[in-house]
Amino acid sequence: MLTVPGGYLDLQINGGWGFHFSDDPSSVWEVGARLVEHGVTQFLPTLVSDGFDRLDDAIGVLEGGPPPGWVGAEPVGLHLEGPWLSAKRAGAHDLRALRSPEVSRVEGRPWIRLVTLAPELPDSPEAIARLVRSGIVVSLGHSEATLDDASAAFDAGASMGTHLFNAMSGLHHRSPGLAAALLLDARATFGLIADGEHVAPDMVRLAWRSAPDRLVLVSDAVASLGLTHDPVASLDNGTLAGSVVAIDQCVRNLIDFCGCSLAEASHAASARPRSVLGLDPPHGTFVELDDRGEVVRTVIAKEVVFET
Ligand code: ZN
Repeated sequence: MLTVPGGYLDLQINGGWGFHFSDDPSSVWEVGARLVEHGVTQFLPTLVSDGFDRLDDAIGVLEGGPPPGWVGAEPVGLHLEGPWLSAKRAGAHDLRALRSPEVSRVEGRPWIRLVTLAPELPDSPEAIARLVRSGIVVSLGHSEATLDDASAAFDAGASMGTHLFNAMSGLHHRSPGLAAALLLDARATFGLIADGEHVAPDMVRLAWRSAPDRLVLVSDAVASLGLTHDPVASLDNGTLAGSVVAIDQCVRNLIDFCGCSLAEASHAASARPRSVLGLDPPHGTFVELDDRGEVVRTVIAKEVVFET
């Protein structure tokens, strides 16, 4: 049995149980209520590139707070994944929504905690500096960046990478790109989708061996989480479109793929993502795991909200 102080915090989750936050931001409460089954106590609902149409709605939902009597994993802010992404590495994002950074759209807005952008886009270093000054964590991703582009972005205050290896310039021995920059640069943490589909288990192991203290597990789960037995969500053209596992499975996978301990793996989904956002573990909140990493009990503010 292992107790995880604060429980899991998922920095990148798009929805679940049929709900897609970018279509229906009010679904954060339904999804949050289910996430406690997976040991998640806090999360960043993640909005995909849409030209900011949903941003006002999502902020309004968080401002309004949960419905009366609601218990569940708390949405602690928003992760805007785009629209400042590279069209060459758009993945499942709508190409028509992509644009160059124009931060006045988000500067000073409440609830925005994390922004993913491609640092090779025009004026990115200035945009990064302005976002960081307004208290937003900047993560590099969906990007063709060179190692030099990434270094300039870290100089400007970026401190993370979004889903290492996916939708970014990969490891090449003569042209180190964003993946190499994230593995090498001690200023950066990096999210990793350890569902066994987005990144080959051996590459997960490579990331763990390279930077075990900078790896942050994220689920990148989509609406079909909780509804499907398919191994992964993908578009008709085969492009990966998010995972269908929650973060507790990613913790168990990290142990399987890397041989690390349950304490080390669960840290990468709890204390480390909290340190990315500068959060302390919420008071009276923890998760108990059995020796295989299955969630036995989730406690939020001293109340048992899930128990097997
Ligand atoms: Zn993505």
